[in-house]
Amino acid sequence: MSRAVTVAVVAGLVTAAGAAPVAAGDRAFVGARLIDGTGRAPVESATLVVRDGRVLAVGPSARVKPPAGAETVDLKGKTLLPGLINAHGHVGETRGLVAGPEHYTEDNLRRQLGLYARYGVTTVVSLGGDREAGFRLRREQDRARRDRARLYVAGPVVAGQTAEEARRQVDAVAALEPDLVKIRVDDNLGTAPKMPAAAYQAAIEQAHRHGLRVAAHVFYLEDARGLLNAGVDFLAHSVRDTDVDDGLVASMKQKGVCLCPTLMREVSTFAYETAPDFFSDPFFLRDADREAVEALEDPARQRSVRESSAAQRYKAALEVAKRNLKRLAGAGVGIAFGTDTGPPGRFQGYFEHRELELMVQSGLTPLQALTAATGGAARCLKLDGIGTLEPGAWADFLVLGADPLADIRNTRSLESVWLAGERLPR
Ligand SMILES: [Zn+2]
Repeated sequence: MSRAVTVAVVAGLVTAAGAAPVAAGDRAFVGARLIDGTGRAPVESATLVVRDGRVLAVGPSARVKPPAGAETVDLKGKTLLPGLINAHGHVGETRGLVAGPEHYTEDNLRRQLGLYARYGVTTVVSLGGDREAGFRLRREQDRARRDRARLYVAGPVVAGQTAEEARRQVDAVAALEPDLVKIRVDDNLGTAPKMPAAAYQAAIEQAHRHGLRVAAHVFYLEDARGLLNAGVDFLAHSVRDTDVDDGLVASMKQKGVCLCPTLMREVSTFAYETAPDFFSDPFFLRDADREAVEALEDPARQRSVRESSAAQRYKAALEVAKRNLKRLAGAGVGIAFGTDTGPPGRFQGYFEHRELELMVQSGLTPLQALTAATGGAARCLKLDGIGTLEPGAWADFLVLGADPLADIRNTRSLESVWLAGERLPR
């Protein structure tokens, strides 16, 4: 929504306040520093008015007045920002440190989406592995009372080895009515067959025929180049084998294709060589899966990670990914925050806060990282009505006790999470 429209709505509210009948349940959040998710500088003392789950008006408190009769929530000294959007997660398939389709139940999905939400991740785009229960929860989420993160689903991952097989897989996924299609172009450090160019070209073309956008799992620069030429819509991981070149930067910019860095995915491959520092972080411990933590503390398991050559290669790949993130963001390529959480050892909710920290360590400003995790992610994946706090958007937002623009780790001072204007119980 344009700035002109925002101002018009706000002005309308100001003149109507007191005169118009008050809708039941209007709520005004007053006095916080507001980061609206668009990338604009924060408003130091803002008022956010919510009606029927959506933002009615927002702006400096000097200009936006609560409607008569609205419940007022005093947020002086706090920071308010849109709920985080994880543009690359996975849901439903993991319990503790064990993964498998048998765990993909509605109960497990609700548990995991509740966990994401309690950590302030109010939207998850599940990039692969989704089954019927996930599609069902997604269909009902706008009508149901919200007690969990909003979910978007890609359905089964497409990785056919021939054009014909890829097209068939895309048709089967499209029949499920996913939000997007996920393809996988990687050889797992040379240990698995990679989807050939002819197959991914056919998959992308077929998905587009169905009106679906395509997100690609990618590792190598050469594949990223090929995927862009084939019309891919989203790179669901960092390029990690080598530094990106001018050609890739220009191609991503010109085609409007965004990068989803997923730096914590790399971290998860080597972090458990010993007990990682975050095992003693109170913010981690408040909702940590004890079963998973205990399994990761097993000395034999830690030794096997230390001795894993893949873990060491991904450790090096993380540094490449960080450089590439800095370069692409600096060049104006769209960045969509994502973590690849959900698989074993990738802690949903908590890892998202560490990802923000890694993005800042890579050279992004805290505002750039937070924009990627809110309005930027929504823009990259064309998710309507979320990501920014502008009139008409869903009132999914977070209240922090400390300013994340001063120190990105302050996202961990999370005090409350609001979904469609209602406070999520802890
Ligand atoms: Zn993934």
